[in-house]
Amino acid sequence: MQIGIYGGTFNPVHLGHIHLLREVMATGLLGKILVMPDRTPPHKQALDLVAGWKRFEMLKLATMGMEGIQVSDFELRREGKSYTYMTLRLLREFYPDDQFSLIMGADMLLSFREWRNWEEILSYTRLIAAARDEGEYERLELAAKALGNTELIRITPLPVSSTEVRAAVKKGHSLEKLVPQPVADYIRENHLYQ
Ligand code: ATP
Repeated sequence: MQIGIYGGTFNPVHLGHIHLLREVMATGLLGKILVMPDRTPPHKQALDLVAGWKRFEMLKLATMGMEGIQVSDFELRREGKSYTYMTLRLLREFYPDDQFSLIMGADMLLSFREWRNWEEILSYTRLIAAARDEGEYERLELAAKALGNTELIRITPLPVSSTEVRAAVKKGHSLEKLVPQPVADYIRENHLYQ
């Protein structure tokens, strides 16, 4: 099977993430997608980072009923930093008959060469990437061409970020246009990001 891996901090999951998941599933490129919250993000500083299992629960709430989408605790259960190349090595060992693709937004594609062992990853993993903002496609096309083994999908960008969600909570603003309702309820009930 063609399996997509969608990794991230998801602190918290937001509508931009869900939009990307829907659009990638709609391409028919993949049989299923594993959404994997990471334990300690190697790419960014962990400011205001909520416990892994809570980020996991919010992902479950956000993707409930979405066909082909599975939230996975594969990286949360591993000790130490979650490097993508390690995850892929392990997945390939466990599932030798499947092919894996990595799903990512523009920022991750444009900084892909900073990932640990990116050449190894790219040698056996297709990247599937999309814009987060208007006007990003030209740069993405150049990056995709230079890297190779990369599928750019054309989506109408939904420019939301977890940073924006955390800031909205702090200011007491509505989360209605930023996260799915069950996630907004979870954030409020658990007093997250205050
Ligand atoms: P933060 O604001 O805390 O940096 P983030 O919104 O970038 O977080 P991540 O969990 O770091 O969210 O992102 C996980 C993956 O989802 C990355 O590949 C990122 O590029 C992608 N992504 C995040 N937001 C969007 C969006 N609005 N549209 C498309 N892809 C997105």
